[in-house]
Amino acid sequence: MTRLVMKFGGTSMADLERIRRAARLVAAEYDAGHRVAVVVSAMSGKTNELVAWTDGAGKATGRAIEGDDEYDVVVASGEQVTAGLLAMTLRNMGYDAISMMGWQVPILTSDVHGKARILDIPPAKLETALDAGQIVVVPGFQGVTESGRITTLGRGGSDTSAVAVAAAVKAIRCDIYTDVDGVYTTDPRVESKARRLKKISFEEMLEMASLGAKVLQTRSVELAMGQRVPVRVLSSFVEPGENIDQGTIVCDEDEIVEKHIVSGVAFSRDEAKITLLGLPNKVGVSAAVFSKLAAANINVDMIVQSEKRSGEYANQLFTVGRRDAQAAAEIMEAAKAEIGFDAIKVDENVAKVSIVGVGMRSHTGVAETMFRALSEKGINIQVISTSEIKISVLIDEAYTELAVRALHAAYDLDKIGQ
Ligand code: ADP
Ligand code: ASP
Ligand code: MG
Repeated sequence: MTRLVMKFGGTSMADLERIRRAARLVAAEYDAGHRVAVVVSAMSGKTNELVAWTDGAGKATGRAIEGDDEYDVVVASGEQVTAGLLAMTLRNMGYDAISMMGWQVPILTSDVHGKARILDIPPAKLETALDAGQIVVVPGFQGVTESGRITTLGRGGSDTSAVAVAAAVKAIRCDIYTDVDGVYTTDPRVESKARRLKKISFEEMLEMASLGAKVLQTRSVELAMGQRVPVRVLSSFVEPGENIDQGTIVCDEDEIVEKHIVSGVAFSRDEAKITLLGLPNKVGVSAAVFSKLAAANINVDMIVQSEKRSGEYANQLFTVGRRDAQAAAEIMEAAKAEIGFDAIKVDENVAKVSIVGVGMRSHTGVAETMFRALSEKGINIQVISTSEIKISVLIDEAYTELAVRALHAAYDLDKIGQ
């Protein structure tokens, strides 16, 4: 019998009625002849609430929060509740269901608390239960270290749990049930003309996710791509049978017939821009700046250096995640004399808007269309970065939605699939 993994996100688990609806979708797949493992998120809003509790406790006790193993004990608990409730609901419907916590499976992870990576999922316990005809409900987002401590995988991590479970039990597919009926050309909450993509390549989905489209966690796409797990994104707000031929399949590029030059527009407001003014223009300066940030585990994204006219000095601009901005600025300020720059500027009112598409590899003029569309709306581009299948620009945050809509129109994304 084929195995299937079904994952339900926070809004799909938000209350008992939604849990009952998810249970009906699970039961239908079971009745259709699949062996089913289900991965669930906490009820929507729950993880935020739990994180806030740890913040409060941390401030009160003076203990660090990020990287603290007790942080994971608290925030992993939301998924335990929904896993138990879904298993209970399935039992009440007459199905043999059982929950298995991350430590029971076990989902073995690294010990980087708050951002752990899955190392291995020994499949034996899951497989025994599935082969016995049980529906296994696993809480997403959580795992356990080799030494038995509870971990979590970073926000949105239940997607990654689901793909990892699918790979471990060799499922035919991992179905991600969420509050939209697929992956769209851009976030449908920002552009109502966004179109659902029937298929998207792993590479494009990876770029979309890492550039801000939160419909799938980036790591889950990486894992699916590496382990060749077919992923389908679809709505949980339907009754069984209503979503046939719906959703988006994330698959290999050569399985996609209708290829687009640009498939989507992604955006991220989680950005901050730091500018170092008057750096000495000499060998080793960039290494000095970025080694200090790396030592503090701060990820740098875009980087631009411009020489001053005299050639002796340069300005350097880079972006970091917004929550790292203050720390990055403090590190640089402390190294000001050693590195020898004049001043530092921090701007947290920036956003990154990106276009993604495999067609960019073989088409010219894609960047020109992007820059023209933005200039026609009077939007100034502060930084540009590119890769083979994406172009990103940094702009004033206030123009994020305007830019997304302008780019969506410029590449005719509202006509996809029509
Ligand atoms: P879940 O709780 O099910 O994991 P998320 O909130 O993490 O759901 O992800 C779904 C949300 O992702 C959607 O509600 C939508 O607003 C957002 N989103 C962003 N970009 C896209 C996109 N390109 N296609 C579909 N949804 C997107
Ligand atoms: N509940 C976790 C979060 O809100 C994990 C997830 O939903 O994927 O980040
Ligand atoms: Mg999510």
